[in-house]
Amino acid sequence: MSFLDFFKKKETSSQQPEPTNNSSARDLSGVLNSVGVGLIVIDENDCLLELNESSMSYLGLSENTIGSKAVEVIKSVDLINLIKQAKESTNQVEEISGTHAGDKNFLVSATYDEENQETQIVMMDTTRSNRLENVRRDFITNLSHELRTPVSVIRANSESLIDGALEDEEAAKKFSTAILRNSEKLTRLLSDILNLSTLESGEYTLDIRSTNVTPIISNVVSNLKEANPAIDIQVTINEDLMVMCDIQAFEQVMTNLIENGIKYGTTDNSNTLSISAKPVGQKMRFEIEDKGQGIPPAERKRVFERFYRVQEKEVLENSGTGLGLSIVKNLVHLMDGSVGNEQAHPNGTIFWFTLNIV
Ligand code: ADP
Repeated sequence: MSFLDFFKKKETSSQQPEPTNNSSARDLSGVLNSVGVGLIVIDENDCLLELNESSMSYLGLSENTIGSKAVEVIKSVDLINLIKQAKESTNQVEEISGTHAGDKNFLVSATYDEENQETQIVMMDTTRSNRLENVRRDFITNLSHELRTPVSVIRANSESLIDGALEDEEAAKKFSTAILRNSEKLTRLLSDILNLSTLESGEYTLDIRSTNVTPIISNVVSNLKEANPAIDIQVTINEDLMVMCDIQAFEQVMTNLIENGIKYGTTDNSNTLSISAKPVGQKMRFEIEDKGQGIPPAERKRVFERFYRVQEKEVLENSGTGLGLSIVKNLVHLMDGSVGNEQAHPNGTIFWFTLNIV
């Protein structure tokens, strides 16, 4: 049975209804409503003959409008035009917006059934798939942009070396350092992208178990202290602090947040970071607090978006990828926690995340 047959009550009303067909038709209508497919049938006099729940909500109609002229009750000009065109040339498929459903988009198929002199319309909500397509396109645009900068720096510096800078020891060192720094940035970028895409594909499985995180934090802190000896990192964490987490994911989250604290939250005059944890209900809340210049309130949430970086000179001079916090957000969510940031007082930022207590 084609799903539009369900709406052809006129045809079937003269026949004895078959109980199995009726119940499967009802099921079908329920399924179509639940997946958000709207169905409309318009009769030979251009009046509404049938509507399902989804189409009523998309078009702001109710059962009372059945029997009304379509052109009088359907407010979408695009949809009315499509219905007219279908009558003239059998089948029309188009993407429309501007319905009662606000900024939603629909893929609409309008078919004129000559035999029954009815126009049958199927509306599919494509808002989500359009949004995903835009996210994918933005990702590729951002990625190309981010890759182009280090690649062109490497190229320009190599050309300078070949064109004679090799003879000048000081210049050769400067150009080679720039090549090294930018190839490191490329490596970081590629590794972050790979990690993020594995996480977002849902293929990454974590081994979440009861874990003593105190030694993991100590380890991360001592590694980062070794690389940044001028930074004072104060850790206030109980011995043997047990939470539900994946060891590697926890280590990665801590590393990214402390590294950011060092990059964006310390200066020559203020070089202290503090790390602490306290129970809040059934969760353990970890905090990484710096005394830096903070994040403007409007950008607090946005820093977790892929490639988002606060557009300030100090930030842009830092060789980040804009992906570290997206990775943090994904990992914390996979471990059933939440993550955020808030202003520290009198200045600086507190990045926090929560995990389940054992
Ligand atoms: P990256 O550090 O590679 O730029 P992230 O995703 O880790 O990428 O961070 C995104 C942006 O968030 C940074 O570019 C910076 O603008 C801002 N940010 C992150 N941590 C801090 C912090 N502790 N203080 C101020 N700004 C921060």
